[in-house]
Amino acid sequence: MEQEEGHLVADADARAAAYLRGIETRRVFPDSDALRALERLDEPLPPVGLPAMDTLALLDEIGSPATVASNGPRYFGFVVGAALPAAAAADRLMLAWDQGAALAMAAPGVARFEQVAGRWMLDILDLPRGSAVGFGTSATACSLGILAAARDALLGRTGWDVGSQGLFGAPEVRVVVPATVHVTISKALRVLGFGADRILRAPVDAQGRIDPDRLPPLDGRTILVLQAGEVNTGEFDRFDVLVPRARAAGAWVHVDGAFGLWARASAHRDRTAGVEGADSWTVDGHKWLNTPYDCSMAICRDPDALARALNSDAAYATGSREAQKNLTLEFSRRGRGVTVWAALRTLGRDGVAGLVERHCAQAQHLAARLRDAGFNVLNRVVLNQVVVRGRDDAETLAVRLGAEQSGEVWFGPTVWAGKPAFRLSISSWRTTDADIDRLVDVLVRAREAHRAG
Ligand SMILES: *Cc1c(COP(=O)(O)O)cnc(C)c1O
Repeated sequence: MEQEEGHLVADADARAAAYLRGIETRRVFPDSDALRALERLDEPLPPVGLPAMDTLALLDEIGSPATVASNGPRYFGFVVGAALPAAAAADRLMLAWDQGAALAMAAPGVARFEQVAGRWMLDILDLPRGSAVGFGTSATACSLGILAAARDALLGRTGWDVGSQGLFGAPEVRVVVPATVHVTISKALRVLGFGADRILRAPVDAQGRIDPDRLPPLDGRTILVLQAGEVNTGEFDRFDVLVPRARAAGAWVHVDGAFGLWARASAHRDRTAGVEGADSWTVDGHKWLNTPYDCSMAICRDPDALARALNSDAAYATGSREAQKNLTLEFSRRGRGVTVWAALRTLGRDGVAGLVERHCAQAQHLAARLRDAGFNVLNRVVLNQVVVRGRDDAETLAVRLGAEQSGEVWFGPTVWAGKPAFRLSISSWRTTDADIDRLVDVLVRAREAHRAG
């Protein structure tokens, strides 16, 4: 058994290394043969176990060709980033450790790494230093946890204790979100019991930011959700105007900064001015910081509010703000904060700024070249997102599908200002300036092919 474990790990490492060696040249989206080969997986559940080496081989032989090379340099979909070598390597070592990070008592080492990672996060994002930092699976899950804390805290101020009284019969809490709110915030709010009728969608300007002049009235029973990095345009809400207004009204301000909050760690920091005045923030590791999946952070100014809402102590309301199990939805979980520690330690403040700034400069270059080539760039490109449209709907679709078919690049569709478009996100540490030029070439060729019929 022991010997086999060594062989298996070595085999997996060799296969992983081979995959990574080919990451720059493999197709970005799998071809139809690779997808068809997945049918080989449809075997019945083995009545008796099959050899582990064969299982790993099958995973690699069928699985690797069917991957989307989002860990490569020319994947421009969904702002998802790649995986930094140091963070991915840390994750591999942690697989050997197999630590459960719910409790410092059970895994004191991991707890300490995550504590340091949390401190560094507050430092690099320049958020209130006493805030709690919970390491969860996703911005979705982290927002859900934090919005529960927001709801409970606002109700608590009215004398209603959600923990003991529940929600039935509670005073009403409203939520104001940007009309461009990310779908995962809507999901979190729905799960928390805010029906669509309790959610006011604040009108936005042409950039997708809340228009401060048309902000619905706020009060002490309102949660205001703002965005650092609108998912299409990468735009930022006007924190400097909105946050002080919300706080003066006694509202709770939550900032969805899944990818865009990283601007704060760069020369583009000004775009986030005032964000530090909010009550809570979510930011992903697995997007722009380029940690592996899955890794996200819930940051809350009032650690006790978060620990009260999410506490999983045997006795209710004793939630320690130190215990990770009281800061996220998860109880048992891997030490995902360790990958944040590894990423921040190897990049340093300078490396994070450099990564963000390079991607923003590449987005500017990309937008300029696309405009020159006659494409419609629909946003003003303030960050790493470029929203593009062809001459009409048919051309927009044809260019995207042609690009996908080329295997050279991949990106997804979107709808902006009511029209089909596609969104190019630059967030992989592997993406070079040459990759951006190649993207432009692919788009131009796909358009020519479409026009030639
Ligand atoms: C990706 C994203 C989310 C959701 O993040 P997950 O980690 O995928 O759950 C939320 N908001 C914005 C703006 C995003 O880009």
